[in-house]
Amino acid sequence: MKVLGIETSCDETGVAIYDTGAGLLAHNLHSQIDLHAVYGGVVPELASRDHIRHLPLLLKRTLADAGIDAGRIDAVAYTAGPGLAGALLVGASVAESFALARGIPALPVHHLEGHLLSPLLAADPPAFPFVALLVSGGHTQLMRVRGVGDYALLGESVDDAAGEAFDKTAKLLGLGYPGGPQLAKLAEEGRPGQFRLPRPMLHSGDLDFSFSGLKTAVLNVVSAPDWRPGQAADLAAEFQQAVVDVLCAKALAALKKVGLKTLVVAGGVGANRCLRETLDAALARRGGRVHYPEPALCTDNGAMIAFAGALRFAAGERGAKIATVSIRPRWPMTELRPPRTPAA
Ligand code: ATP
Ligand code: MG
Ligand code: FE
Repeated sequence: MKVLGIETSCDETGVAIYDTGAGLLAHNLHSQIDLHAVYGGVVPELASRDHIRHLPLLLKRTLADAGIDAGRIDAVAYTAGPGLAGALLVGASVAESFALARGIPALPVHHLEGHLLSPLLAADPPAFPFVALLVSGGHTQLMRVRGVGDYALLGESVDDAAGEAFDKTAKLLGLGYPGGPQLAKLAEEGRPGQFRLPRPMLHSGDLDFSFSGLKTAVLNVVSAPDWRPGQAADLAAEFQQAVVDVLCAKALAALKKVGLKTLVVAGGVGANRCLRETLDAALARRGGRVHYPEPALCTDNGAMIAFAGALRFAAGERGAKIATVSIRPRWPMTELRPPRTPAA
Protein backbone atom coordinates (compact mmCIF):
# COMPACT_ATOMS: atom_id res chain seq x y z
CA MET A 1 0.00 0.00 0.00
CA LYS A 2 1.36 3.40 -1.06
CA VAL A 3 0.45 6.32 1.17
CA LEU A 4 0.97 9.94 0.16
CA GLY A 5 1.79 12.15 3.17
CA ILE A 6 1.27 15.91 3.28
CA GLU A 7 2.57 18.20 6.04
CA THR A 8 1.74 21.94 6.18
CA SER A 9 1.20 22.67 9.88
CA CYS A 10 3.68 25.53 10.18
CA ASP A 11 6.51 26.80 8.03
CA GLU A 12 7.64 23.72 6.10
CA THR A 13 5.83 22.12 3.20
CA GLY A 14 6.51 18.38 3.30
CA VAL A 15 5.41 15.69 0.87
CA ALA A 16 6.34 12.00 0.99
CA ILE A 17 5.29 8.59 -0.27
CA TYR A 18 5.55 5.65 2.10
CA ASP A 19 5.04 2.08 0.92
CA THR A 20 4.00 -0.41 3.61
CA GLY A 21 6.11 -3.03 1.84
CA ALA A 22 9.11 -1.15 0.47
CA GLY A 23 9.35 1.68 3.03
CA LEU A 24 9.92 5.34 2.26
CA LEU A 25 9.91 5.81 -1.54
CA ALA A 26 10.50 9.57 -1.67
CA HIS A 27 10.23 12.69 0.43
CA ASN A 28 10.67 16.37 -0.27
CA LEU A 29 10.65 19.44 1.89
CA HIS A 30 10.36 23.13 1.22
CA SER A 31 11.35 25.31 4.15
CA GLN A 32 9.99 28.85 4.47
CA ILE A 33 12.82 29.99 6.76
CA ASP A 34 14.01 32.73 4.36
CA LEU A 35 10.47 34.04 3.96
CA HIS A 36 9.93 34.57 7.70
CA ALA A 37 13.51 35.39 8.76
CA VAL A 38 13.13 39.15 8.22
CA TYR A 39 10.18 39.16 10.66
CA GLY A 40 12.03 37.09 13.30
CA GLY A 41 9.19 34.56 13.44
CA VAL A 42 6.53 32.80 11.39
CA VAL A 43 3.90 35.10 9.82
CA PRO A 44 0.82 32.84 9.53
CA GLU A 45 -0.74 34.41 6.42
CA LEU A 46 2.56 34.33 4.53
CA ALA A 47 2.96 30.69 5.55
CA SER A 48 -0.45 29.72 4.11
CA ARG A 49 0.24 31.45 0.80
CA ASP A 50 3.65 29.86 0.47
CA HIS A 51 2.19 26.39 1.10
CA ILE A 52 -0.25 27.06 -1.77
CA ARG A 53 2.65 28.02 -4.02
CA HIS A 54 4.84 25.03 -3.25
CA LEU A 55 2.56 22.10 -2.48
CA PRO A 56 1.57 21.28 -6.11
CA LEU A 57 5.21 21.47 -7.24
CA LEU A 58 6.40 19.32 -4.37
CA LEU A 59 3.66 16.78 -5.06
CA LYS A 60 4.77 16.44 -8.69
CA ARG A 61 8.43 16.15 -7.75
CA THR A 62 7.78 13.53 -5.07
CA LEU A 63 5.77 11.35 -7.46
CA ALA A 64 8.58 11.68 -10.00
CA ASP A 65 11.23 10.81 -7.38
CA ALA A 66 9.24 7.72 -6.39
CA GLY A 67 8.95 6.82 -10.08
CA ILE A 68 5.17 6.38 -9.98
CA ASP A 69 2.18 8.30 -11.28
CA ALA A 70 -0.66 9.60 -9.14
CA GLY A 71 -2.87 6.62 -10.04
CA ARG A 72 -0.63 4.31 -7.99
CA ILE A 73 -1.32 6.08 -4.69
CA ASP A 74 -3.68 4.05 -2.47
CA ALA A 75 -4.40 6.58 0.29
CA VAL A 76 -3.56 10.08 1.47
CA ALA A 77 -2.53 11.12 4.99
CA TYR A 78 -2.31 14.78 5.94
CA THR A 79 -1.57 16.84 9.03
CA ALA A 80 -4.92 18.04 10.41
CA GLY A 81 -3.49 19.64 13.58
CA PRO A 82 -2.18 21.00 15.79
CA GLY A 83 -0.76 23.96 13.90
CA LEU A 84 -1.59 27.24 12.14
CA ALA A 85 -5.20 27.15 10.92
CA GLY A 86 -4.56 28.66 7.48
CA ALA A 87 -1.49 26.52 6.86
CA LEU A 88 -3.32 23.35 7.93
CA LEU A 89 -6.24 24.19 5.61
CA VAL A 90 -3.95 24.24 2.57
CA GLY A 91 -2.65 20.71 3.19
CA ALA A 92 -6.08 19.40 4.20
CA SER A 93 -7.77 20.83 1.07
CA VAL A 94 -5.14 19.48 -1.30
CA ALA A 95 -5.13 16.07 0.38
CA GLU A 96 -8.91 15.70 0.48
CA SER A 97 -9.24 16.89 -3.15
CA PHE A 98 -6.53 14.52 -4.35
CA ALA A 99 -8.29 11.62 -2.58
CA LEU A 100 -11.77 12.60 -3.78
CA ALA A 101 -10.61 12.90 -7.39
CA ARG A 102 -9.09 9.41 -7.29
CA GLY A 103 -11.67 7.70 -5.12
CA ILE A 104 -9.15 6.79 -2.43
CA PRO A 105 -9.37 7.39 1.34
CA ALA A 106 -7.88 10.44 3.06
CA LEU A 107 -6.91 10.32 6.71
CA PRO A 108 -6.31 13.31 9.01
CA VAL A 109 -3.12 12.75 11.03
CA HIS A 110 -2.01 14.33 14.31
CA HIS A 111 1.25 16.23 13.76
CA LEU A 112 2.74 15.12 17.08
CA GLU A 113 1.83 11.49 16.44
CA GLY A 114 3.88 11.93 13.27
CA HIS A 115 6.86 13.21 15.28
CA LEU A 116 6.42 10.55 17.94
CA LEU A 117 6.29 7.61 15.53
CA SER A 118 9.10 8.88 13.25
CA PRO A 119 11.85 6.90 15.08
CA LEU A 120 9.98 3.76 13.94
CA LEU A 121 11.03 4.64 10.39
CA ALA A 122 14.65 3.86 11.33
CA ALA A 123 16.36 0.65 10.22
CA ASP A 124 16.41 -0.67 13.79
CA PRO A 125 13.08 0.56 15.21
CA PRO A 126 12.09 0.43 18.91
CA ALA A 127 9.39 -2.00 20.05
CA PHE A 128 6.33 -0.94 22.04
CA PRO A 129 5.96 -0.08 24.88
CA PHE A 130 8.33 2.86 25.37
CA VAL A 131 8.55 6.30 26.90
CA ALA A 132 8.60 9.15 24.38
CA LEU A 133 10.27 12.49 24.99
CA LEU A 134 8.73 14.91 22.54
CA VAL A 135 10.87 18.02 22.29
CA SER A 136 9.83 20.35 19.49
CA GLY A 137 9.29 24.04 18.85
CA GLY A 138 5.81 24.00 20.35
CA HIS A 139 5.82 21.03 22.75
CA THR A 140 7.81 19.39 25.53
CA GLN A 141 6.06 16.24 26.69
CA LEU A 142 6.80 12.87 28.21
CA MET A 143 4.43 10.12 27.08
CA ARG A 144 3.99 6.47 27.88
CA VAL A 145 3.38 4.80 24.53
CA ARG A 146 1.85 1.31 24.43
CA GLY A 147 1.04 1.28 20.73
CA VAL A 148 -0.20 3.47 17.89
CA GLY A 149 -2.79 5.81 19.41
CA ASP A 150 -2.23 4.59 22.97
CA TYR A 151 -0.63 7.61 24.60
CA ALA A 152 -0.64 8.60 28.26
CA LEU A 153 0.75 12.01 29.16
CA LEU A 154 3.27 11.73 32.01
CA GLY A 155 4.40 15.35 32.12
CA GLU A 156 4.82 18.47 30.01
CA SER A 157 6.11 22.03 30.01
CA VAL A 158 4.00 24.42 32.03
CA ASP A 159 5.23 27.32 29.87
CA ASP A 160 7.69 27.50 26.93
CA ALA A 161 8.64 24.42 24.94
CA ALA A 162 12.32 23.42 24.90
CA GLY A 163 12.71 24.41 21.23
CA GLU A 164 10.98 27.72 21.90
CA ALA A 165 13.45 28.38 24.74
CA PHE A 166 16.36 27.65 22.38
CA ASP A 167 14.91 30.03 19.77
CA LYS A 168 14.13 32.86 22.21
CA THR A 169 17.51 32.58 23.93
CA ALA A 170 19.25 32.63 20.55
CA LYS A 171 17.42 35.87 19.79
CA LEU A 172 18.68 37.35 23.09
CA LEU A 173 22.22 36.45 22.06
CA GLY A 174 21.73 38.16 18.70
CA LEU A 175 21.80 34.94 16.67
CA GLY A 176 19.76 34.65 13.47
CA TYR A 177 16.39 33.01 12.96
CA PRO A 178 15.55 30.26 13.66
CA GLY A 179 18.02 30.30 16.48
CA GLY A 180 17.89 26.81 18.02
CA PRO A 181 20.44 25.11 15.76
CA GLN A 182 22.69 28.22 15.79
CA LEU A 183 22.62 28.40 19.57
CA ALA A 184 23.56 24.71 19.71
CA LYS A 185 26.46 25.37 17.33
CA LEU A 186 27.72 28.28 19.42
CA ALA A 187 27.42 26.16 22.57
CA GLU A 188 29.91 23.66 21.10
CA GLU A 189 32.56 26.38 21.26
CA GLY A 190 31.88 27.28 24.89
CA ARG A 191 32.18 25.68 28.30
CA PRO A 192 29.22 25.09 30.59
CA GLY A 193 29.78 26.15 34.21
CA GLN A 194 31.38 29.53 33.43
CA PHE A 195 27.98 30.99 34.16
CA ARG A 196 25.49 29.47 36.56
CA LEU A 197 21.94 29.16 35.24
CA PRO A 198 19.05 27.45 37.08
CA ARG A 199 17.80 23.92 36.33
CA PRO A 200 14.08 24.77 36.49
CA MET A 201 11.81 22.22 38.21
CA LEU A 202 14.64 19.68 38.47
CA HIS A 203 13.45 18.71 41.95
CA SER A 204 9.73 19.37 41.49
CA GLY A 205 8.96 15.71 42.14
CA ASP A 206 6.76 15.47 39.04
CA LEU A 207 7.52 15.04 35.33
CA ASP A 208 6.69 18.59 34.28
CA PHE A 209 9.08 21.17 32.85
CA SER A 210 9.46 24.93 32.81
CA PHE A 211 11.77 26.79 30.42
CA SER A 212 10.62 30.40 30.38
CA GLY A 213 12.58 31.29 33.54
CA LEU A 214 15.77 30.00 31.97
CA LYS A 215 15.37 32.44 29.11
CA THR A 216 14.82 35.26 31.64
CA ALA A 217 17.96 34.19 33.51
CA VAL A 218 19.90 34.54 30.25
CA LEU A 219 18.34 37.97 29.71
CA ASN A 220 19.56 39.04 33.16
CA VAL A 221 23.11 37.94 32.33
CA VAL A 222 23.27 39.76 28.99
CA SER A 223 21.67 42.91 30.48
CA ALA A 224 24.23 43.17 33.31
CA PRO A 225 26.80 46.00 32.96
CA ASP A 226 29.75 43.61 33.06
CA TRP A 227 28.45 41.45 30.18
CA ARG A 228 30.89 41.02 27.31
CA PRO A 229 29.65 39.59 23.98
CA GLY A 230 32.84 37.51 23.84
CA GLN A 231 31.31 35.34 26.58
CA ALA A 232 28.34 34.31 24.41
CA ALA A 233 29.67 30.82 23.66
CA ASP A 234 30.09 30.03 27.38
CA LEU A 235 26.60 31.32 28.13
CA ALA A 236 25.14 29.30 25.24
CA ALA A 237 26.92 26.18 26.55
CA GLU A 238 25.54 26.71 30.06
CA PHE A 239 22.04 27.30 28.69
CA GLN A 240 22.18 24.14 26.58
CA GLN A 241 23.54 22.16 29.54
CA ALA A 242 20.71 23.41 31.78
CA VAL A 243 18.04 22.31 29.27
CA VAL A 244 19.74 18.97 28.70
CA ASP A 245 20.17 18.32 32.45
CA VAL A 246 16.45 18.79 33.09
CA LEU A 247 15.29 16.86 30.01
CA CYS A 248 17.60 13.97 30.86
CA ALA A 249 16.68 13.83 34.57
CA LYS A 250 12.94 13.87 33.86
CA ALA A 251 13.18 11.33 31.04
CA LEU A 252 15.02 8.96 33.38
CA ALA A 253 12.44 9.58 36.12
CA ALA A 254 9.65 8.82 33.65
CA LEU A 255 11.28 5.52 32.62
CA LYS A 256 11.69 4.58 36.27
CA LYS A 257 8.09 5.48 37.08
CA VAL A 258 6.59 3.25 34.38
CA GLY A 259 9.28 0.54 34.62
CA LEU A 260 10.64 0.76 31.07
CA LYS A 261 14.13 0.99 29.56
CA THR A 262 13.36 2.19 26.05
CA LEU A 263 13.28 5.91 25.37
CA VAL A 264 12.20 7.45 22.09
CA VAL A 265 13.14 11.07 21.40
CA ALA A 266 11.30 13.03 18.71
CA GLY A 267 10.96 16.64 17.57
CA GLY A 268 13.48 19.25 16.47
CA VAL A 269 15.43 19.47 19.74
CA GLY A 270 16.06 15.73 19.34
CA ALA A 271 18.67 16.76 16.77
CA ASN A 272 20.73 18.37 19.55
CA ARG A 273 24.07 16.59 19.91
CA CYS A 274 24.59 17.35 23.60
CA LEU A 275 21.12 15.97 24.40
CA ARG A 276 21.80 12.81 22.38
CA GLU A 277 25.18 12.15 23.98
CA THR A 278 23.85 12.72 27.49
CA LEU A 279 20.78 10.52 27.03
CA ASP A 280 22.74 7.77 25.25
CA ALA A 281 25.28 7.60 28.08
CA ALA A 282 22.61 7.66 30.81
CA LEU A 283 20.55 4.88 29.22
CA ALA A 284 23.64 2.79 28.45
CA ARG A 285 24.54 2.89 32.17
CA ARG A 286 21.06 1.54 32.95
CA GLY A 287 21.05 -1.19 30.32
CA GLY A 288 18.50 0.69 28.25
CA ARG A 289 18.49 2.39 24.89
CA VAL A 290 17.46 5.62 23.20
CA HIS A 291 15.93 5.73 19.72
CA TYR A 292 15.88 8.83 17.52
CA PRO A 293 14.54 9.65 14.09
CA GLU A 294 17.29 10.06 11.53
CA PRO A 295 18.49 13.70 11.80
CA ALA A 296 16.72 14.88 8.63
CA LEU A 297 13.39 13.65 10.04
CA CYS A 298 13.68 15.33 13.47
CA THR A 299 12.01 18.55 12.37
CA ASP A 300 8.78 18.80 10.37
CA ASN A 301 8.51 16.61 7.28
CA GLY A 302 6.03 14.72 5.11
CA ALA A 303 7.61 11.31 5.73
CA MET A 304 6.44 11.11 9.33
CA ILE A 305 2.88 11.97 8.27
CA ALA A 306 2.85 9.41 5.45
CA PHE A 307 4.24 6.84 7.90
CA ALA A 308 1.80 7.56 10.76
CA GLY A 309 -1.05 7.46 8.22
CA ALA A 310 0.25 4.20 6.73
CA LEU A 311 0.31 2.52 10.17
CA ARG A 312 -3.30 3.54 10.74
CA PHE A 313 -4.44 2.58 7.22
CA ALA A 314 -2.67 -0.77 7.53
CA ALA A 315 -4.57 -1.39 10.77
CA GLY A 316 -7.83 -0.86 8.90
CA GLU A 317 -8.64 2.74 9.74
CA ARG A 318 -10.33 4.82 7.04
CA GLY A 319 -11.13 8.51 6.80
CA ALA A 320 -14.63 9.97 6.61
CA LYS A 321 -16.84 8.48 3.86
CA ILE A 322 -17.63 11.94 2.55
CA ALA A 323 -14.67 14.22 1.92
CA THR A 324 -14.50 16.74 4.74
CA VAL A 325 -11.82 19.34 5.17
CA SER A 326 -11.62 19.55 8.93
CA ILE A 327 -8.60 20.74 10.84
CA ARG A 328 -7.84 21.09 14.56
CA PRO A 329 -5.39 23.94 15.28
CA ARG A 330 -5.49 22.83 18.95
CA TRP A 331 -5.60 19.09 19.47
CA PRO A 332 -4.31 17.26 22.59
CA MET A 333 -2.58 14.05 21.56
CA THR A 334 -4.12 12.17 24.48
CA GLU A 335 -7.48 12.40 22.64
CA LEU A 336 -6.14 9.98 20.01
CA ARG A 337 -7.29 6.36 20.02
CA PRO A 338 -5.73 3.25 18.46
CA PRO A 339 -6.63 2.67 14.79
CA ARG A 340 -10.12 1.28 14.34
CA THR A 341 -11.93 -0.17 11.38
CA PRO A 342 -15.08 1.75 10.41
CA ALA A 343 -18.35 0.40 11.83
CA ALA A 344 -19.93 -2.00 9.36
P1 ATP B 1 5.55 21.38 17.01
O1 ATP B 1 5.95 20.11 16.37
O2 ATP B 1 5.50 21.31 18.49
O3 ATP B 1 4.31 21.95 16.41
P2 ATP B 1 7.63 22.55 15.41
O4 ATP B 1 7.07 21.72 14.34
O5 ATP B 1 7.91 23.98 15.14
O6 ATP B 1 6.71 22.45 16.72
P3 ATP B 1 9.99 20.99 15.13
O7 ATP B 1 9.99 21.29 13.68
O8 ATP B 1 9.86 19.60 15.56
O9 ATP B 1 8.98 21.90 15.93
O10 ATP B 1 11.36 21.51 15.75
C1 ATP B 1 11.79 22.84 15.59
C2 ATP B 1 12.47 23.25 16.88
O11 ATP B 1 13.64 22.47 17.10
C3 ATP B 1 12.90 24.70 16.86
O12 ATP B 1 12.51 25.31 18.07
C4 ATP B 1 14.43 24.59 16.75
O13 ATP B 1 15.09 25.66 17.36
C5 ATP B 1 14.71 23.31 17.48
N1 ATP B 1 15.99 22.71 17.09
C6 ATP B 1 16.33 22.22 15.88
N2 ATP B 1 17.59 21.76 15.89
C7 ATP B 1 18.06 21.97 17.15
C8 ATP B 1 19.31 21.69 17.81
N3 ATP B 1 20.32 21.12 17.18
N4 ATP B 1 19.41 22.02 19.12
C9 ATP B 1 18.37 22.58 19.77
N5 ATP B 1 17.20 22.87 19.22
C10 ATP B 1 17.04 22.57 17.92
MG1 MG C 1 9.48 24.34 11.61
FE1 FE D 1 6.64 19.77 14.42
